[in-house]
Amino acid sequence: MTEEQKSFMKMAIELSQMGMDSGIGGPFGCVIVKDGKVIGKGSNAVASTNDPTAHAEVVAIRDACKNLNSFQLEGCELYTSCEPCPMCLGAIYWARPSKVYYANTKTDAAKAGFDDQFIYEELELPHSERKIPFNQFMRQEAIDVFDNWINKENKTVY
Ligand SMILES: [Zn+2]
Repeated sequence: MTEEQKSFMKMAIELSQMGMDSGIGGPFGCVIVKDGKVIGKGSNAVASTNDPTAHAEVVAIRDACKNLNSFQLEGCELYTSCEPCPMCLGAIYWARPSKVYYANTKTDAAKAGFDDQFIYEELELPHSERKIPFNQFMRQEAIDVFDNWINKENKTVY
């Protein structure tokens, strides 16, 4: 890692401490960098905003996308204080940054009481056996909307 990369990770870790100290949320921070400049940052804000999706990575992705006026983070690097949870992993793949760097691991997070493991286990289970049961119905009606999307002429593909 270069000194510059270390400084970005240091910033993400500082955000994790600051967010926790100020009561914004849990001990997680994230910084998004493009061309050597920070273009988005965030710390976990779940508790203070009543938003279960306000993980540091999601907060930082929203900030970076707003600043770039884009829903993609091409050419960006994401520095996060902790290995991303399954939700953030999904958000990162949708946002498509070039690289992800993380400091502590999901095992470290589990020791601190943040256990993502059960979500990974849920992904392996049949829908009906999940803690939150998933039930399917009205498939064709929803497919009709997909057909409309497929046939739509002016659309933003993402
Ligand atoms: Zn997360």
